[in-house]
Amino acid sequence: MPSHGNPQPLVQDILQQLEIDPDDICKVTKRFLQQIKEGLDHPRPWQLPSYVFHVPDGSEKGTFLAVDLGGTNCRICLVDLLGNSTYNVTQTKQTVPEHLRINPRYQPLFSFIAKALREFLDQHELRHQIDCPTGSKRIPLGFTFSFTCEQTSISKGTLIQWDKGWDIPEALGKDPCAMLQESIDEMDLPVLVSALANDSVGTLLSRAYTSQDQGSTLAGVIIGTGTNAAYLERSCNVRRLPNTETKPMHDTIVLNTEWGCFDDDLKVLPITPYDRELDASSINPGQQQLEKRVSGMYLGELMRLVILHCHERGVFNMVLDVDSPCNCQYGIDSSFLSLIARDRTTESWDATKDIERVLSARGVTPDDARILTQLADSIARRSARLAGSALGAIIIQSERLSGPVSEKCAVEVTSLPNDQNDKQRPKQPKRICGLLSRIGDYFKRFIYSLTKKRSVENESLDQGSEQNFIDIGVDGSLIELYPGFEAHMRGALRDIQEIGPEGEKRVRMGLARDGSGVGAALMANAAT
Ligand code: ADP
Ligand code: MG
Repeated sequence: MPSHGNPQPLVQDILQQLEIDPDDICKVTKRFLQQIKEGLDHPRPWQLPSYVFHVPDGSEKGTFLAVDLGGTNCRICLVDLLGNSTYNVTQTKQTVPEHLRINPRYQPLFSFIAKALREFLDQHELRHQIDCPTGSKRIPLGFTFSFTCEQTSISKGTLIQWDKGWDIPEALGKDPCAMLQESIDEMDLPVLVSALANDSVGTLLSRAYTSQDQGSTLAGVIIGTGTNAAYLERSCNVRRLPNTETKPMHDTIVLNTEWGCFDDDLKVLPITPYDRELDASSINPGQQQLEKRVSGMYLGELMRLVILHCHERGVFNMVLDVDSPCNCQYGIDSSFLSLIARDRTTESWDATKDIERVLSARGVTPDDARILTQLADSIARRSARLAGSALGAIIIQSERLSGPVSEKCAVEVTSLPNDQNDKQRPKQPKRICGLLSRIGDYFKRFIYSLTKKRSVENESLDQGSEQNFIDIGVDGSLIELYPGFEAHMRGALRDIQEIGPEGEKRVRMGLARDGSGVGAALMANAAT
């Protein structure tokens, strides 16, 4: 039986453990920045080149299919890029059943997607709209695949690892585009998988496409089932790629950071008993440590572990039914955190009924509700602050706070300590690469100014925004729906010395609606 003693010391202790002070935020950012640089210099399963060298400028046109396979949902989209920074999208969404997410074979998952695609084509009568006499004319499809892939081109990649609770061993080492094409061909659909996109890359591209301020979009951030980010890096900094691959042909390249795996050796990330327990009983212990503290798949589970701990120690008045989701691993969805946070922000604050319903609990008192709300808020706040410190590392790496991006390629990257290979490398090529890149940049601006008829007003807006705004596209249910998530991320940005309140004001975050689907269409456009 619960003792109903004074619950405050225990609750205060948990709230304290979930707090990350500004010093710790700075340490996390510093470590992430080191990992970013390490991944630029050496092949690592993060900082993965996407083979997208330019972000869209809004003039892209065409009709494309997109499949967006997130950690929870599979969306099929028909995207019509209208060429004036706008688009039309028609989409359907299905949850991917668990037996397909965890399966020894890859075929069941990909034929599930192909079937969904066939239904979509039939529903919208797309099979007959396309003129394909010999099957040669196929609708290009961009495939957003939100798992870690090492890419070798815009349309080819190798799956390195599953995460977000997925496990399909047969697919490891294989090309997701080829696996999807196999099932599409089996169903004889007039579709060609022509681009492989990570959802964070897609989000960056779709934000850049819709942005009114050319050149201001730096990154795409996902905080949904999982968490990840992609950003635009100067090619000359990407020393993991041979010179011939990107340099000096392209002055920029989009990198998929795969930041969910940052600090997997737990040098700086906070560790509570709940983090330990969640990790130990996960499908991938020791991996995706940032993701396990930030993303939608895990926040509900952290909340469940905290609730159980408090419940066992008599903190609550409520009684949990035997079949309460609190007694089942991953029984609580992170939308529960948003639900009680929303209740708190409404005028007549009464979360008790929602709590009784979601937790299958009886006799929830206002005190219970207050404690649960505080706990949920601390879990979400920690998540957002960690996401903010990861974003801070990207912003620092971009050097955009200290001037326009085009000036930066001549700047040398500081090497990590003990980086012997790097020390042996001659410095000269970096400078030449920087110079070529700058010349390329100026040349592009010159062409741009000749080809784009822009008003004087727009001109000054463009230049001003490149100087003043760092635009970040965001996507994912957690960042979209948890009240105040962005505000907490911004709090962390202000805590980072190199950014501070002035730098934080220059960061503009905006939802890249339909980001993954539209981004995949933009990649298919780039590939054709
Ligand atoms: P995907 O990751 O498949 O692209 P989403 O971006 O919709 O899909 O993210 C799904 C994740 O978001 C799930 O882990 C779910 O628990 C979480 N989620 C859904 N709704 C909410 C909400 N209202 N508040 C917080 N998290 C949510
Ligand atoms: Mg998604």
